[in-house]
Amino acid sequence: MTVSSELPISYTPDVVVVGGGATGVAAAMAAARNGADTLLIEQRGYLGGMGTAALVPAFCPYSDGEKPIIRGIGLDLLNEMKREAGDAFHERFKEQLDWVPIDVETLKRVYDQQVLESGAKILFHTVADQVLLEGDRISGLVISNKSGRSVVQAKLYIDASGDADLAALAGVPFQTGGENGELQPGTMCYLVTGADKARFDQFCQDSGQSKQLDKTIVEAQQNGDLPEGRKRVSGIAWITDAIAGFNFGHIFGIDGTSAEDLTYAAIEGRKLIDVQIKFLRKYVPGFENIHLVHSGDQIGIRETRRIAGDYTLVVDDFISMRTFEDDIARNAYFIDIHLANASSTMVIKHLPKGKSHGVPYRCMLPQGKSNLIVAGRSVSSDRPVQGSLRVMPNCFAMGQAAGTAAAMASVTGAGFREVNIPELQRKLVEQGAWLGENPGKVEAVTVASGHIEYDEESN
Ligand SMILES: Cc1cc2nc3c(=O)[nH]c(=O)nc-3n(C[C@H](O)[C@H](O)[C@H](O)COP(=O)(O)OP(=O)(O)OC[C@H]3O[C@@H](n4cnc5c(N)ncnc54)[C@H](O)[C@@H]3O)c2cc1C
Repeated sequence: MTVSSELPISYTPDVVVVGGGATGVAAAMAAARNGADTLLIEQRGYLGGMGTAALVPAFCPYSDGEKPIIRGIGLDLLNEMKREAGDAFHERFKEQLDWVPIDVETLKRVYDQQVLESGAKILFHTVADQVLLEGDRISGLVISNKSGRSVVQAKLYIDASGDADLAALAGVPFQTGGENGELQPGTMCYLVTGADKARFDQFCQDSGQSKQLDKTIVEAQQNGDLPEGRKRVSGIAWITDAIAGFNFGHIFGIDGTSAEDLTYAAIEGRKLIDVQIKFLRKYVPGFENIHLVHSGDQIGIRETRRIAGDYTLVVDDFISMRTFEDDIARNAYFIDIHLANASSTMVIKHLPKGKSHGVPYRCMLPQGKSNLIVAGRSVSSDRPVQGSLRVMPNCFAMGQAAGTAAAMASVTGAGFREVNIPELQRKLVEQGAWLGENPGKVEAVTVASGHIEYDEESN
């Protein structure tokens, strides 16, 4: 592709954020609230990424089992969604921190409103597809939309695309999946109406099984009414007593950065939903009269690129619950790597209740680029840690840190590596984030190394 010197310059913000998922929403809000002129670019016509476009039905835990550890913008957005979703929803979930169902249409509106109130501008229906480079700096970002192609010239660039698109376009090295190219599968999530929660709960109790329907699924697989693969539903989230969101089943062997794979997965995902709806109606009391109302605009993607950053967070750091001098967030979510094919198993590892590890700022700094930061599920980590860090509450926390750092750098005119870390941590804490009891103070720990005992693998 030729470099686009003839293209018009459409925007010249201090900070541009590419991608309006959990990461990008928090990044844009944080950058704007800290004084930067901020533009948020999103290819769809609404914000939320996997949580709205792919209908991922619930927010993963905000707590470490004892206390909230994801706070700040992420927690505020959760609470705002609960309030805006109406009295019944609010009443049911107001105290809940973990696995709160996503009320998709409310969440889209809350994101619009909160981002605009922060002062950031939103540009929908726009894809960022080329970066212009000058040495180690990005000098412009080419965007495409109905108005044509143009260049955004910003001081600082935040890659919140979930796939490290900007980093890849800028030539940052990255890894994808495991050693043998294995990737977590995708899932086409969906919403059904006409369900009966009380009847379903009673059925699970009477049949002595978890609400993930472990026994019933095995029975249906043996009867040929469900394909082989995970022997339970990954998650059912009840938005009301009649409307449930499903994260159920997998489409294997797809790369979320390949248009062909995404196309195949969309078609196969919808076919699988049809099979599952028939299964639910036939086997599961409470779901006899369900009707499919919506499937994801795209297949849900758990894993694509992981950038090479200044620090790579590895599973030994996770197990040892390490703290770093440059922590910008804490993570307590378990390692949750979904099976790469129908006959393999889940890889799971929990931290003890009340425990977490630090997420260092350096994981977001891509090697060789000075004014680019990458936040969200593609930060620099090994594969097991990506299997944990990838969830939405963590994405909010990393996004808030990236946006705050960008606002600080836009004042000094320096790059992301020159950001004063204690000052960044102070701002994050002042603005509600939780960085542990003593942010920036490194406790001596023995860093585990070598073989990791994963928790009993459940499928
Ligand atoms: C099936 C499934 C189940 C999951 N279950 C849970 C769960 O229960 N709870 C939980 O908290 N997390 C869950 N996760 C993980 C979580 O949803 C994602 O990892 C998280 O949403 C990542 O957030 P993000 O903002 O980094 O990326 P995304 O949510 O992917 O958002 C990226 C955004 O960037 C936009 N974008 C990308 N490239 C470009 C571009 N070049 N130009 C313009 N826009 C672009 C996309 O349209 C998208 O809106 C699940 C994921 C999947 C797939």
